[in-house]
Amino acid sequence: MISNQFQFQNLKRIKGIIFDLDGTLTVPCMNFQILRERLGISQGIDVLREIKKWDTVENKRAHKIIYEFELEARNIMQIQSGTINLLEFMEQNKLLKAIHSRNSLENIKYFVDHVKPYKFDHLVGRDESVEPKPHPSGSHEISKNLNLQPDQFLFVGDSIDDVTTSKSFGSISCLLLNETNRKHATSADFSVESFTELQNLLREHLVCNNTSSINVNSKQ
Ligand SMILES: [Mg+2]
Repeated sequence: MISNQFQFQNLKRIKGIIFDLDGTLTVPCMNFQILRERLGISQGIDVLREIKKWDTVENKRAHKIIYEFELEARNIMQIQSGTINLLEFMEQNKLLKAIHSRNSLENIKYFVDHVKPYKFDHLVGRDESVEPKPHPSGSHEISKNLNLQPDQFLFVGDSIDDVTTSKSFGSISCLLLNETNRKHATSADFSVESFTELQNLLREHLVCNNTSSINVNSKQ
């Protein structure tokens, strides 16, 4: 765990968790470099914002490429280890569940179907009417819909975009660490190696309200 001197007692106020989907609730399997090559969009340019600028024919072609790319990923989708236990823990502790993703709503629902009987309270996917992450409007939609304030949410994701979204939204940010995102660990409020670690933190601070010392590898 890496924490930017985050006060874990702040987890007490959490009433819901907003999850990213790809690489967070599912094991990372999307090679976005391949998608960029297929679309002809270089690194550093936001794909969804870029194709919005294209004319109707090109935009339609781009959406078809993205759809096929996501379908390939969906076919090899693997649910992140510890997900079911975490969802069960959330049910027991009446924590609301939401997903804010840049993936299509169809693929988000495909994931949700695979974790039944657990249900999510609100889903936000790629939608022409909502600015994609890192814009926080999707998270604001969740907050409005679930009648909670942004600071009552924990936002869990695997990319710097998720951390940025969480910060602009006003929630607590948690980065789920993997082989490629460790450089962003200190940008988030705290980071975890696994959902099991996250669940243990929630159990300790949310339910038991136990503020006893934990082994924090603090970085500034
Ligand atoms: Mg992700």
